[in-house]
Amino acid sequence: MNLSINDFRYTYPSERLLMGPGPSNCAPRVLQAMANPCIGHLDPQFLAIMDETQQLLRFLFQTKNPLTIPVSGTGSAGMEAALVNMIEPGDEAVICVNGVFGVRMTEIVQRIGGKLTRVDGEWGRAMDPDLVRKAVKGKNPKLLAVVHGETSTGACSDLSTLSSIARECGVLFLVDMVTTLGGINVPIDELGIDVAYSGTQKCISCPPGLSPISFGQRAMEALDRRKAPVMSWYLDMGMLRNYWGNERKYHHTAPINMIYGFREALRIIAEEGLEERFKRHLKNHRALVAGIETMGLSMLVPEKERLPMLNAIKIPEGINDLQVRRDLLNGFGIEIGAGLGPLAGKIWRVGLMGHTSTLRSVLLFLTALETVIKSQGFKPGAGAIEAATTIV
Ligand SMILES: *Cc1c(COP(=O)(O)O)cnc(C)c1O
Repeated sequence: MNLSINDFRYTYPSERLLMGPGPSNCAPRVLQAMANPCIGHLDPQFLAIMDETQQLLRFLFQTKNPLTIPVSGTGSAGMEAALVNMIEPGDEAVICVNGVFGVRMTEIVQRIGGKLTRVDGEWGRAMDPDLVRKAVKGKNPKLLAVVHGETSTGACSDLSTLSSIARECGVLFLVDMVTTLGGINVPIDELGIDVAYSGTQKCISCPPGLSPISFGQRAMEALDRRKAPVMSWYLDMGMLRNYWGNERKYHHTAPINMIYGFREALRIIAEEGLEERFKRHLKNHRALVAGIETMGLSMLVPEKERLPMLNAIKIPEGINDLQVRRDLLNGFGIEIGAGLGPLAGKIWRVGLMGHTSTLRSVLLFLTALETVIKSQGFKPGAGAIEAATTIV
């Protein structure tokens, strides 16, 4: 084998403004924390960092749940961990589907051998609670699952109503918070959520690689009552509990430096304060929408059902979707997301997540978008920047 080291230069990608569906930009402090020495995963110094990480994560989830840890793997690992621990072969699960990530949940349930009831909602809308209630009441499922913020469409479902349906019917309530955790208020204890999981690269603004997860009392009881062992060895929450708990029973090697970065991202969130952080996400979202609508473009999702961290903008007639995204990236260093599935070519997905959610990002994006669509002959209405800056 001939390999010339000169073909592998010491180069790294350039800086981008990450305004897609994730990852978002990381605070420099997070990346600096990750550059600290890699030590042993049973080193007392690392054990202390694991403990602090769990405390900070409970603060973010607003929970007392002892089993609140970052699973090693991205958001999808959290989704799989949640479902594979709660569903045994033959168990019935009601899954809400109003976008790509709901579909992913149904695929996991089927792989586990669960009995799937799928409630289909409209893509671009919140889940309709009446449809969900009907589906849960008609059966006697073990679990109801929903994606809180559908990153594929920009729609946000109402957790308190769905949670009360789960309680009425005595089923476990499982929620995907990959996009929403750290960007809007999701107090999981108060909302009566039994299992919640998230990801690090969206509103937590840490690189992808961990999936925060929390299991409540009822979920722990369901875990203890299982007849069959959890089908995934790596994602077995019983074993992970013994690793992250006082026993420190070796299961796998925690991704040491990733945990440093995550802990730092959580510290940044605690410094800002949850309420301030949620306000910031909402305000920048409103600024973006004001600018977009002033330009004469429109949003996919009705106002009351919109996610502040993921904005789905309808692509106007005659505009070349791919060209716009290319021009934004090559000309301005701005990444936005394309539509997925039935929404491909119909929307742009513009993220305002965590560290990226600033008025500066909004103004840069509006200016860049205006320039790019003008070059394709679109005549945007004037005053977008002014409209965005006057939002309080
Ligand atoms: C991003 C995302 C996921 C998947 O997370 P990965 O980190 O890409 O594995 C799951 N659910 C939702 C709602 C997401 O936005």
